[in-house]
Amino acid sequence: MDQRSTFRVQTHILKPKIYKNLAAVREHDFKHQFWKWRWIQDVWSFYSSIATSEQAGESGVQIMSGYLLSDEEPQGRLYEDFVFSHRKMSREEKDRLNFGKYKFGYHVTTIVATVRKYYTWHMKRFLDNGGILQQRKVHSLEEFVGQCDVVVNCTGLGSRELVGDSAVHPVRGQVVRDVIVLGGCLQPNNYSLINSKEDTVDILKRCYELLPSLKGSQIEDVWTGLRPLRTPLRVEKEIVEFQSGHLKVVHNYGHGASGITLSWGTSLEAADLVRDMCRTTAKL
Ligand SMILES: Cc1cc2nc3c(=O)[nH]c(=O)nc-3n(C[C@H](O)[C@H](O)[C@H](O)COP(=O)(O)OP(=O)(O)OC[C@H]3O[C@@H](n4cnc5c(N)ncnc54)[C@H](O)[C@@H]3O)c2cc1C
Repeated sequence: MDQRSTFRVQTHILKPKIYKNLAAVREHDFKHQFWKWRWIQDVWSFYSSIATSEQAGESGVQIMSGYLLSDEEPQGRLYEDFVFSHRKMSREEKDRLNFGKYKFGYHVTTIVATVRKYYTWHMKRFLDNGGILQQRKVHSLEEFVGQCDVVVNCTGLGSRELVGDSAVHPVRGQVVRDVIVLGGCLQPNNYSLINSKEDTVDILKRCYELLPSLKGSQIEDVWTGLRPLRTPLRVEKEIVEFQSGHLKVVHNYGHGASGITLSWGTSLEAADLVRDMCRTTAKL
């Protein structure tokens, strides 16, 4: 498994940008409209139940307050309806904080996850519940024919090769880390995993303009990864025919910049699809 594709540092659960990612899901498709709503509900109820429990420290899922600044007015009410609190900032408040150049500012209390900790916590839960982990490259899904009832394909960018899906492509991102994470960039179809000095300079320039108090802090790390984006993201079942027989597959990939946020929502849908396929197996 290549660990470079997955964001390893801190992520803001339920960012307002989620609208843009979800807008990519077919607007005209009633089923997807329904799922979009269900995904967000499932995501928020899962993460907020951890963040408000004794599991918060160990899981890295925490409540945090902060500011959202933008020149575009956030669309729709989805975000503010879910987060713990959401308040529009007055012009005076923005000026006092040196955020005056932004047209829109909001003070929010939401959830952030420290991804490294969160993955470790999740993996422990999986293993404690009897899950088995095997790490290897899968060359073809045909390897699983006759081996299992259903395969869940969540190989992200790997689906280009594994299931021949050229609609999934990389969106390169780079971040700079001191105590907080500074970012970032969105570079479609750029496969480079090499940290770019130009991107680091640009990220720091933008962050120092916003928060001059960051200047002089020690940079711990620069990190580059590839977001696996597909429009629309793919959560669906398929029966794939191979020479050696057929295989039931549930696909769950293409989450782009929101894979950690949406993971719990789309995984519950994928689990429903697995149950559907198992029921069909039982009837055969
Ligand atoms: C800089 C940056 C910032 C980000 N910030 C956020 C954020 O704030 N919030 C958020 O929600 N998301 C964020 N993301 C996006 C998030 O990391 C991705 O959406 C998420 O990791 C996608 O998860 P995934 O499991 O679908 O795919 P991946 O994380 O890409 O995992 C797919 C796995 O499948 C394995 N694989 C592929 N092909 C094969 C094969 N043939 N055989 C065996 N294994 C295979 C890969 O090695 C990989 O381990 C960010 C990403 C980047 C790069």
